[in-house]
Formats: sequence, structure tokens, C-alpha cells
Amino acid sequence: MISDNARRVLTALAVSFCASSANAQDELTLSTRTLDALVHVVAHEIGHAVLREFDLPVLGPEEAIADDFATVYVQLMFPDRAEAIVSARADQDLADNEETEPFSEYIDDDWRAGRSVCVLYGLDPERYAGLRDRYGMTDDDASNCEDLAPEVGRSWRRIIANYRMPESVRVTEAYFAGDDIPLTTLIVSSQLSEDAGAMLRAIDWHSQITLAVEACEGSGGWSRNGRRITICDTYVERFERQLGQ
Ligand SMILES: [Zn+2]
Repeated sequence: MISDNARRVLTALAVSFCASSANAQDELTLSTRTLDALVHVVAHEIGHAVLREFDLPVLGPEEAIADDFATVYVQLMFPDRAEAIVSARADQDLADNEETEPFSEYIDDDWRAGRSVCVLYGLDPERYAGLRDRYGMTDDDASNCEDLAPEVGRSWRRIIANYRMPESVRVTEAYFAGDDIPLTTLIVSSQLSEDAGAMLRAIDWHSQITLAVEACEGSGGWSRNGRRITICDTYVERFERQLGQ
């Protein structure tokens, strides 16, 4: 584990660059597609957080529920960019292409990709019509998505409405933290940081939620004890290999 001393706490508005990080950072870049896909990843973790923090019933596979939350929330928060965000995440899932074991809590990557595309398309078929060609949806597929997505969207919007922070209220309950690695600096100064901040600040949390970029093996995760969303640097690097130009 990383010691607290090694962890720099950063806020989205007060970012300090140390010289060594700035030099190493010159070699690091993140494509727009990686940053977009990570918006959906952060939204997925916020989905777990919303379920747990507000004691919502988990009436199905939680990973699938969190994915649906992510798609609906991204569409709610960033309607003009939702197609780019969801398609970047779907393409990353398709690149991973992992199949799960029968008793796993996780779900197959190709199903995750298809489901997110299906839900976003079905939430506004005219606006997101580009997804049909991009993912080879048949007329039957499109009509299936147009049937199921409004129910998913309506369900989540009604639940989220109970916990939305009024726009006039200044929020202090969302913090960014990170290990002292160049990737932290890069992400904190990126559009992803702004997007993640906007998504976190739109919820009226019980107490402070932290979003952290850490040097670790793994993916993203929500820790209920620490009220912390963690994104591992190796996960981000994998996205960049799969989605970067
Ligand atoms: Zn999850």
C-alpha cells in the first residue's frame, strides 16, 4: 500500500506541479478517447458509491447496475459528449474481451459494451443514431434498445433526483488525491478531472468522497470504508494502449 506521506492531496482548483513530475510528464500523454472512456469508468464507480452510500437495493448484478447508472448519468451530465464517452468505453471493453466464469460477480466485456451502447442509443435514438452504424445494430437490435432504455433511464433519473445537489449550493465534499506520479498530475490537469468533479459535485453525499489516481495493479474501484474511488495507473496505461492513436 502507499503511505500517506507519498500521497499528495490535490484539489481540482489548486494543482501544484513539482519539477520532477513536470519533466517526466513531458513523455506522457493521454488521448481524448482514453480520457472519455475513463469518464464512464468514474461514473461506474460513482454508481457503486450511490448504491452503497444511500443504501439502495441491489436488485441484480451490481456490475451491470453500475454500468447502467454510468451510461444514464453520463447522458444526464454530458448529453453532447455522451456518444464519444460511451463508444470509447465500449471499444475499450471490446478490446479487453474478457469472458467471466459462471459464478463471477463480473460480466462479459462484449455484453458490457453492447449494453452501454444499447442503453445510450435507446435513450435518444435520433441524437445517438451514429451508434447504429458504428456497432452494426440491426433494426431489431435498435428497436429492442429503444424499448428497454427508456425504462432504465427513467428509473435511474428518478432515483438520482433524490440525491442531486442543487446547482446553487457550493460543494466541498469531493476531493482529488493521488500518488506522486506524473499520471496524477496529468489527469488532475485534464478534462477528465473537470468531468469527474462535475459528476461528483452533482450528488449530495453524506460526507467527503475522494477520487484517487494511484500506482497500483488493477482497475478502478470503490472503497466504502474510505469513501474513495481509486483508478490504478496501470489501468489508465492499458486504456491508452488500446484507444490511443
Ligand atoms: Zn464495478
